[in-house]
Amino acid sequence: MTCEKCGHVQEKPREKFGTTLCTLCYHLSPSEESQFKEYIQEKVDGSTLETFRKHFHPGEKQKQGMVKKAIKGHPMSRMPFGYNLENGNLVPAQNFKEVEEIFEEFINEKISLKKLSERHHLSINGLKKILRNFTYIGKIKFNNQIYEGEHEPLVSTTLFNHVQNKLENEGIK
Ligand SMILES: [Zn+2]
Repeated sequence: MTCEKCGHVQEKPREKFGTTLCTLCYHLSPSEESQFKEYIQEKVDGSTLETFRKHFHPGEKQKQGMVKKAIKGHPMSRMPFGYNLENGNLVPAQNFKEVEEIFEEFINEKISLKKLSERHHLSINGLKKILRNFTYIGKIKFNNQIYEGEHEPLVSTTLFNHVQNKLENEGIK
């Protein structure tokens, strides 16, 4: 059964006000029905919750606060380029190799962001987002903190760091 909030698939889901939820979303949900409906409408990307899911124990107040913030900061949005969402997990998409190509080309070629973005059918802003996205080295960022994710990286940390240095050296914002 699929959680109606985060898309996580759980064998024995919980139910509240007729809504199917995973254990995590269940425990974080408000008890008042109108608030609950709002909560369900705010869909989240289940992949950002994977880090916490395994270590989640309903009793731990501090961690609950952290997960709540994670949920707030990550409304369901478009998947990062190169990934798909499967059962609430980020998995490499068909075009996953293109991500590394983009990183390599940015480092190895004297090419403008404009040319590079055109080559890969991206906007310049989209390209910059890709080049800065910690998701590609297997991490998850929220509240300005970086956490270890549970998904497969698409780019090596070395390559990623080279790209960050080049972006900085060239004053690309
Ligand atoms: Zn859920």
